[in-house]
Amino acid sequence: MISLDIQKIRNDFPILNQQVYNKPLIYFDNGATTQKPQVVIDEELKIYSHENSNIHRGVHYLSEQLTQRYEDARKTVRKFINAKHDHEVIFTSGTTESINTIAFSFGEKYISEGDEIIISTVEHHANIVPWQMLCERKKAILKVIPINDKGELLLDEYQKLISPKTKIVAVNQVSNALGTVNNVKKLIDIAHQQNIPVLIDGAQSIQHGNIDMQELDCDFFVFSGHKIYGPNGIGVLYGKEKLLNEMPPFMTGGEMIKKVTFEKTTFNELPFKFEAGTPNYVGAIGLVAAINYIQNIGLGNIATYEKELLDYATKKLESIDGLKIIGTSQKKVSVISFVLDNIHHYDAGMVIDKMGIAVRTGHHCAEPLMNRFSIEGTIRASFSFYNTKEEIDKLHEALLTVKQMFS
Ligand code: PLP
Repeated sequence: MISLDIQKIRNDFPILNQQVYNKPLIYFDNGATTQKPQVVIDEELKIYSHENSNIHRGVHYLSEQLTQRYEDARKTVRKFINAKHDHEVIFTSGTTESINTIAFSFGEKYISEGDEIIISTVEHHANIVPWQMLCERKKAILKVIPINDKGELLLDEYQKLISPKTKIVAVNQVSNALGTVNNVKKLIDIAHQQNIPVLIDGAQSIQHGNIDMQELDCDFFVFSGHKIYGPNGIGVLYGKEKLLNEMPPFMTGGEMIKKVTFEKTTFNELPFKFEAGTPNYVGAIGLVAAINYIQNIGLGNIATYEKELLDYATKKLESIDGLKIIGTSQKKVSVISFVLDNIHHYDAGMVIDKMGIAVRTGHHCAEPLMNRFSIEGTIRASFSFYNTKEEIDKLHEALLTVKQMFS
């Protein structure tokens, strides 16, 4: 047992203190986006009120100050994920842009006809479609790691998929639809034995525990600010220096150039080569406020408390007749995906919503995964450290009402 002062934490999140449909808001849609503590909101307000100026280009006071804060933000992220170099941290708009950047840029350099790319069954569309499109452009082949009925990747099958033609492996660390924690360390080690680089989609793992680039030794790691209590429209692409240096830029324009003539352009060095245009400096600095906030609570404490919530909710929901949890691995973050016998997830979601409870329903941008389980979608409750057992009790009650209504 740990003693986080949850009420105090909740007071840091103004959005939680409201009623919807005359009921206290219960926010269980943290997998889709997390709420923002006041310190993050204040930071953005402060920048727009007193500090705003385009960075990297000005010699004037505001521009210099904000350029410094933006580059300090890069350092904070570097420390947060324990990357080796600041310039291995590229700011993007989010996970989706990060993956697209890698798929285009790495693909341009390293993928040819007949090459193979490995992803897994549990990927979000953001880690499927960019690779699929790359395969179409280059006539390459997409291979998919299968899973068992608990939603766990089959490592033996993964090993069989690897061939001399495999050029990259791209998998998520945590499945957004099931909450399963994948053994990415093992996947990386296996790929590295054949010198195959690995991209880890950390969109659903970064907010649930300490992540260390040098320990994980992945070649790319991507995440979104909005899923880690930070602003929308900011994200991170971490890449190992050597690979990033070898890869061509994806987006081109201002900031990413060294010299432009009408005959030829030479490119800027890392990280700017991958940051074309005006970067989201407000988002990057806001992300720092979010990182500081969660580090103050402690990612270890967050993981422990969220596990308590997960165990509590799993027991409660399992006790409901006709409720089936999809994704039953022992290794999960605080996400429960489930279906109800003979009740469509949308119908259930709408009724639950009217009780003030926000859950997500549908395929969770993981249609191939839903197909694997022969379902159209699930109801997903994803918990954060600001949630409580009392709120889970309310979800339990709401589900009993749903069952009664539709019986
Ligand atoms: N990957 C995973 C595992 C996700 O859960 C998500 C979003 O839910 C994404 C990628 C895409 O993230 P974003 O929409 O922030 O780019």
